[in-house]
Amino acid sequence: VDESVREDMRKLEDTFPGISDRFRLVNRIGEGTFSTVYKAEDLHYDAHQNDWDISTSAQDNYTEPPSKRRRVQGEPTGRKKTKFVALKKIYVTSSPLRIQNELELLHDLRGCGSVCPLITAFRYQDQVVAVLPYFPHTDFRIQYRTFMVADMRHYLRSLMTALNSVHEHDILHRDIKPTNFLYNPDLKEGVLVDFGLAERQGSEYSSPCLCTHQSYVRRSRILSSYYSKNPPSTGFSAGYPKNDSRPSRRANRAGTRGFRAPEVLFKCTSQTTKIDMWSVGVILLTLLGRRFPFFNSADDIDAMIEMSSIFGTRRMKTAAAMHGQIFETNIPTIGEKGYSWEKLVKWSSCVEDLTESEQQATRLLSGLMELDPSKRLSAADALQHEFFTDPVH
Ligand code: ADP
Ligand code: MG
Repeated sequence: VDESVREDMRKLEDTFPGISDRFRLVNRIGEGTFSTVYKAEDLHYDAHQNDWDISTSAQDNYTEPPSKRRRVQGEPTGRKKTKFVALKKIYVTSSPLRIQNELELLHDLRGCGSVCPLITAFRYQDQVVAVLPYFPHTDFRIQYRTFMVADMRHYLRSLMTALNSVHEHDILHRDIKPTNFLYNPDLKEGVLVDFGLAERQGSEYSSPCLCTHQSYVRRSRILSSYYSKNPPSTGFSAGYPKNDSRPSRRANRAGTRGFRAPEVLFKCTSQTTKIDMWSVGVILLTLLGRRFPFFNSADDIDAMIEMSSIFGTRRMKTAAAMHGQIFETNIPTIGEKGYSWEKLVKWSSCVEDLTESEQQATRLLSGLMELDPSKRLSAADALQHEFFTDPVH
């Protein structure tokens, strides 16, 4: 272990009273925008006592209100206790609401086997540390190159199964990407982590989007419009309206660049669990196209340009209209028609022809990367796709 990592771990042990009585920090395993994650040995681990005992570890500094705590007590989780845990130190700059949200949703999802459970959480002053079972996994950036179609199938089946149970709880994860799905190729199973951006469906604060109305295409009420940007290299003046006095629309745009669904970019205010399915599509595209990251946009407008070079302007205009937006672009390389997924996968992976199983995966891809969320496959639909039920070899 690196000396600077050691120093960082010592700092946590020193500033967080009691933590070193319970855990021995082993390594730092993740560093994100909102947290640092450490692997630690649980010093209270007892091999003979197999279930997670939430009630005894939920001491006074457990962040959940006592009413909820009582409900947890005595509920066997059926999960095997492990020697190692992941300690997720949530940055003090994270809003308390965000932290509470993550802990609450994980509590709701505690029965889902494919969601990494929360064992307990500790708070000291403004610091919060969540304790999760340690889940051995491999780094996606290393494994995706070696994946055969059969491996993709195992990976996706596990991810879809996890999402299916999250979506059954009407919860949107909002940040589906490889680093938030810890996949173990030996077990052919993974768990979802990082519910920091997750939300309950329908918790949006603004009025419903046009896409929830049947007649959205005919309705011409324009709430705001997008102007696409010229690529900087051409030296054209950027096409943003300067003094735009129209009211801007507020919609949740949380997520990770490159994985955001079109309706998120179009500021749809009635986002559903389908936004996660788009992100799964992006992961499948990465696997089939053998490129990571597949999309590499600097901002939402760049992301829209990337999307429109695939879908073409005609379909992008229809998608925009669905959410009460207008899509316009004068970038000469963006065609009207766009390209088929099969063509894109071939280009990206530099192959002449796709095998039958790759074609099957590509058909699933087109069901996931569907611009219209109401036509996009749900996790339950996807699990019934021929790619899983009738695999060709
Ligand atoms: P952030 O909000 O900072 O993205 P995450 O919950 O996504 O935090 O965790 C960041 C990284 O830490 C993950 O990508 C993963 O590598 C590692 N990690 C998180 N939870 C676990 C766990 N339970 N077991 C093993 N590694 C984990
Ligand atoms: Mg994360």
